[in-house]
Amino acid sequence: MKSLWNDAEAAKFAGPLGLRVYSARLLGRDRSLVLHGGGNASVKLAEKNLFGEEREVLYVKGSGSDLESVETEGFVPVRLDYLRRLASLPALSDPQMVNELGTQTLLAGAPAPSVETLLHAILPHRYVDHTHADAVLSVSNTPDGEKRIRDLYGDKVVVIPYIMAGFDLAAYCAREFPRQRTRSTVGMVLLSHGVVSFAADARESYELMIELVSMAERYLEGKKAWSVDLPPAAAPGFKRLEAARLRSEVSRAAGFPLLCRCNDSPRFLGFARHPEVARLSQGGPATPDHVIWTKRLPMLGRNVNDFSSGYKNYFDRNSKKAKEQKTMLDPAPRMALDPELGLVAFGRTARDTGIVEDIYAHTIDVILRAEALGGWRALDEGHIFDIEYWDLEQAKPRAAGAIPAFAGEVALVTGAASGIGKACAEAFLRRGAAVVGLDRNPAIETLWKRPDFLGLVCDLTKAGEVTEVIDKTVKHFGGVDMLVLNAGIFPSSQAVQDVSADIWRSAMTVNVEANLLVMQACHALLKLAPRGGRIVVIGSKNVPAPGPGAAAYSASKAAMNQLARVTALEWGKDGIRINTIHPNAVYDTALWTGEVLAARAKAYNLTVEQYKMNNLLRTEVSSRDVAELAAEMCGPLFAKTTAAQVPVDGGNERVV
Ligand SMILES: [Zn+2]
Repeated sequence: MKSLWNDAEAAKFAGPLGLRVYSARLLGRDRSLVLHGGGNASVKLAEKNLFGEEREVLYVKGSGSDLESVETEGFVPVRLDYLRRLASLPALSDPQMVNELGTQTLLAGAPAPSVETLLHAILPHRYVDHTHADAVLSVSNTPDGEKRIRDLYGDKVVVIPYIMAGFDLAAYCAREFPRQRTRSTVGMVLLSHGVVSFAADARESYELMIELVSMAERYLEGKKAWSVDLPPAAAPGFKRLEAARLRSEVSRAAGFPLLCRCNDSPRFLGFARHPEVARLSQGGPATPDHVIWTKRLPMLGRNVNDFSSGYKNYFDRNSKKAKEQKTMLDPAPRMALDPELGLVAFGRTARDTGIVEDIYAHTIDVILRAEALGGWRALDEGHIFDIEYWDLEQAKPRAAGAIPAFAGEVALVTGAASGIGKACAEAFLRRGAAVVGLDRNPAIETLWKRPDFLGLVCDLTKAGEVTEVIDKTVKHFGGVDMLVLNAGIFPSSQAVQDVSADIWRSAMTVNVEANLLVMQACHALLKLAPRGGRIVVIGSKNVPAPGPGAAAYSASKAAMNQLARVTALEWGKDGIRINTIHPNAVYDTALWTGEVLAARAKAYNLTVEQYKMNNLLRTEVSSRDVAELAAEMCGPLFAKTTAAQVPVDGGNERVV
């Protein structure tokens, strides 16, 4: 492992706290050191208060920020002398600790200090860096891990047995650290948990971490336990219905919809097919705090009922020993190892499934290296249970706030690169859905850079391309729960006697047949939607009130309307509802340039403003108005409605 320290970069960070921010980010940049909220960093500074009195302040990373992206505000100032006194108490309950950390914070409105704050406080050094480094865990998580760690580091580190983070660990270290410490001590190994380095200087502390981890890497190399290749595994070809069925069953076990992400990379497939996968994968996580994201064990194969009853047994066994009454979390898995699908990650958001995948990629490395070294041994399930059901850990997901309406659900929007389609994608994203946007325009691929959006280029008139993008959708998010059929064309104005067969056919192909293809491809997926499938058709005012010169368009939209009604008749038994919106005069789309608007207004002898609001309500209709209704049609408000046709047009006298 190499130090990423760069003097030019560091120079942009002012003062000792700035350098703390910089080196904390360096730790966060290397995923083999820390993953997603894991690890921590702190610095102790002498500061004057408003009365000019000097006091020692511990700046420790608070909850809610990741080391990789932490800002100065992510470090919470806490009274150091008080923290040290706390650590010397004979006992301190979790609620008491949380209260004391909160009341001894020196900045109103700061995030809650880390649950590992007391540990940072009792160490005498100015800078303290803490990671869950893969290499150290690989050495530590073996039957003779403690001996190996002592052989490897000698008196460079103080070795602490596994104790749950929080007061008990800090109090133990406060007693044990001075006893074990020598002049050579530069760090501390927390067995089955992680590693700590410390120094008076930010760079030195960070580079000691790199050195300690490098020593573990070299040790593993020396024992031929570093490069742990798996036999090559070829993906069998993605079976989207099998993946969607699995997601549906896992969602049912959870009691709410979950996204699922399948990764059949050679590494995941290779591990899922490892002859000893049952033993290797059913030990537990590499470090305890992963349990918050992944649960203790991956499901092997696809038997969700077996997994759930196993989880209930685990809860029953361990909750009996707990001091307080515990309430069981949902018994659904958050990851599965499947010889065909590879690693399957489940979560309420795309960010969560990404985290599960990241964590397990590193877990496989840790497991295989430990196994090569002398046998992988995870921490007992009791310790993992304590973390999984620790109020302070459960507070982390809770802090994320209320669960949005479409959390865990997937919306597919056609024609999503601009106009109403883009507004629909936004409306579904706002409600917490994962969204796949399809468009012929390549701009769709880079429309938004966020984990819950996938933009794919597709010509919907080509069945092969439709199959391909739906495979990708299911691989990425697990299914299609909501389908917005928005893509369409508006051929240029022609009188009936002049309509060419080509124009007619292209209107029918894009506005009707392509939608039929997409619906057919999605039918089985919509049937599996945890909350029932929903389709929204973006129709047109031209259906109830056609206009002269738009024969091909109006006829195609009317045909689509009829298709939707028949679909409602046929798919109602599958729990799929389909409703149509008939928008009119939506002028904030690419179609309506300033010039076109001005010309149309002039033709009616109106100003542009008057023209835009030329409806019964004298109001302007925007893409967003249409999109919001499309999203609501997929929500509980329309749960009992199918085959409805709702105008969004400000009131049109020809429609009324
Ligand atoms: Zn830790």
